[in-house]
Amino acid sequence: MSESRAEYSVLYFCCGNGHALGHVVKRGRVRRLVLYARADEMRSNFALLTGPARIWCSVCAMERAWEPGAAALDELLAKRERMRAADSPA
Ligand SMILES: [Zn+2]
Repeated sequence: MSESRAEYSVLYFCCGNGHALGHVVKRGRVRRLVLYARADEMRSNFALLTGPARIWCSVCAMERAWEPGAAALDELLAKRERMRAADSPA
């Protein structure tokens, strides 16, 4: 059994108002976005995005660009996730 860090930390890709538009999946260096059909509905997996795209929030209509290559975005999402974890709503 190989010792892998199997801990998948889920990174949500959110609009500016904090609605989850999808979550980020990493496979090696490849980042993909699992887009939700409806924002904040984590089970409404809709599409798998591999390239850059513009995504609209179905809740507040805010637009946000998904850039799979942006390391800064990755950090931002991780930070956001920590914030969410800190005060997770009941
Ligand atoms: Zn929104």
